[in-house]
Amino acid sequence: MELVEVTEGSARILVPKAERIYDAPVFYNPVMTLNRDISVLVARVLGPKRVLDAFSATGIRGIRYALESPAEEVWLNDISDEAYSLMKQNVRLNFEGELYEEDDSTYLRGEKLLVLNRGDANKLMAEKFRYFDLLDLDPFGSPMEFLDTALRSVRRKGVLAVTATDTGVLCGAYAKACLKKYLARPIRGELCHEAGLRILIGAVVRYAAKYDLGVEVLLAYYRDHYFRAFLRFESGAREAEKSLAQLGYLWQEKTGRFTYEKAFLPEKSKAYGPLWLGSLKNEKFMENLVKELESFRPAHKKTRPFVELLSEELDVPFHYDTHALARRQGLEVKKVSDVIERLQELGFKASRSHFSPTAIKTNAPFEVVLDVLRGG
Ligand code: SAM
Repeated sequence: MELVEVTEGSARILVPKAERIYDAPVFYNPVMTLNRDISVLVARVLGPKRVLDAFSATGIRGIRYALESPAEEVWLNDISDEAYSLMKQNVRLNFEGELYEEDDSTYLRGEKLLVLNRGDANKLMAEKFRYFDLLDLDPFGSPMEFLDTALRSVRRKGVLAVTATDTGVLCGAYAKACLKKYLARPIRGELCHEAGLRILIGAVVRYAAKYDLGVEVLLAYYRDHYFRAFLRFESGAREAEKSLAQLGYLWQEKTGRFTYEKAFLPEKSKAYGPLWLGSLKNEKFMENLVKELESFRPAHKKTRPFVELLSEELDVPFHYDTHALARRQGLEVKKVSDVIERLQELGFKASRSHFSPTAIKTNAPFEVVLDVLRGG
């Protein structure tokens, strides 16, 4: 395998040279630098002791957790032999200390303990019961086949960081696959990304409930064709019940008007979901995240503006895509900033939304939004 060295954050990483990222023998995607930046930022704010990077590939994510966050013990795991040997090289490149090997694991004890493991993530997580403070699932496609073991491997007050790249499934292009994987009905059209994110969170909430674990969303977002959520667990039957009570359904008419309702089963037909209707962020956590940005140098130039956009976004379910709404209603498009300003003048809350550059979030009723789009 021909290798090239790249720098990301504080890490130096050898990655395979390849024309296209999916042709490489070990996976490395520079687009995910922003995903890793935010993950490191989250770890700096939370200060977990034990971290698992369950799908390590080159090792970049786990190595950055070890170099850039206060974590004391970081586990890197991958099922592929080539990934395992490359992550070993990369750990040697970044850390000093005594390294010893045992069966399918390598240990490096320096200032921190790094454990490198070759094997199935489900097997490792099943063995390390209630062990990790921060458990990062970044697989190819859907995380669902790893979710149950992850919920057993994370500590009862731990945090799950989960990526889903199967956007076609969660956004309704493959509705049957969404029913099978997430046991939910997805929506198509301009709300598909927000609904997809909420379906993913809803699935975690339903899986976690049987362990008497409640879920708090620290931060969840959509970007670059993937979904990402940082979910903190709360232990107890009541906590699980409280989280289940945040599940519900979404409806949308041809006019663009949407309604949603918290319920265990839908009242009306044609419902999309079940999905999460609670917050997509914790305000205090976001304040800390933005504060932490002052002393953190992101590796990706869009990380800072994106975190700021997330922190300023109004936290209400669903959004209006001004272009899609104008199309549905036969209206001319207006500048997003003008629409937001007008809604605020009328006394409503309104902000941009990370789901689309042409979208707004607001607490104004549908008719008021239409009026503003008509020039009212
Ligand atoms: N987290 C990495 C990063 O940030 O660069 C990328 C991980 S890549 C999307 C997914 C990795 O999962 C691949 O390296 C693949 O070999 C590994 N993998 C696939 N199935 C696995 C399994 N059942 N257990 C552990 N690793 C697995």
